[in-house]
Amino acid sequence: MRHSIGVDIGATKMLAGIVREDGVVLHRIRVNTPAHDGAQVVRTLVTLLAELQTCEVLKTISLAGVGIGTAGQVDFVNGCVLSGTPNILNWANVELRKTLQPITGLPVWVDNDVNVQLLAEASLGVAVAKRHVVMLSLGTGIGGAAMMNGELLHGSWGGAAEFGHMTVDFQGPLCNCGARGCLELFASGAGIAAQMAQRLGLVEGQAKELTGEMVFRKAKQGDVLANEVLDQAIAALTAASVNLAHSFNPEMIVFAGGIMAEGNGALDRVRQAFAIHGISSLLGTVTLANARFGSDAGLVGAALQPFHYHSHAR
Ligand SMILES: [Zn+2]
Repeated sequence: MRHSIGVDIGATKMLAGIVREDGVVLHRIRVNTPAHDGAQVVRTLVTLLAELQTCEVLKTISLAGVGIGTAGQVDFVNGCVLSGTPNILNWANVELRKTLQPITGLPVWVDNDVNVQLLAEASLGVAVAKRHVVMLSLGTGIGGAAMMNGELLHGSWGGAAEFGHMTVDFQGPLCNCGARGCLELFASGAGIAAQMAQRLGLVEGQAKELTGEMVFRKAKQGDVLANEVLDQAIAALTAASVNLAHSFNPEMIVFAGGIMAEGNGALDRVRQAFAIHGISSLLGTVTLANARFGSDAGLVGAALQPFHYHSHAR
């Protein structure tokens, strides 16, 4: 079986490992992301890769390449982070492939973190054998990815599928992206907390401790306002799912994290509402499912890139 190095660069942690093509992680390193400085993230990356390349396990196996998944918008063709996330400072115009390929002596692939999560689900997870799959990854924000005919949809340079910033209410509140009524304002962890804070009349300083999880707990206990916020999140996710089904005609929509993973029946509620809200031929052929991978999705998905693209020209 083939092996590669995978790296998952998140806003709070960086996870790197030697991964077998069936998804087994043979060796892993986890460090905090030096999010105050993008240049420091690159230096940390170089150190992590050097450490992995001298790892004991490599005495008996060779590596097919390095695959990186990162938050932010990535120029997939050139392996360059174009513009980042507000959570990592100066994470823009970072030429990861150009920097890391000569140092490691290995081919390097770089993609958006949700794109590689979908690669993991489609290769080894809930969407195995599916060729047309769309993903919503629910966290502090909401990321998206689309796979059409077995290949990730990258758009002209790699920025496709920012579904968190799909407008579900064009007269809705202003999002930090500049648009109004984006999905993530209603259904991300931060969005759910902000919606609750608004209903409670909290000002910015008071609302800081409020989290999405707290709202779910309150909803379970029967809190009326929390249930209102949750209902709104379900409605936003349903509207987004219908838009995705209408746009992509996928076999499956995969949800990772967030309220769908809470075990509070959110997935079933979206399924029920979804089925009655659009073009029946398009909606009737879509399965809505929760992701199978947990916190390793980014690491494993990143590592699958060298195998997936092995036969592709770059
Ligand atoms: Zn937005």
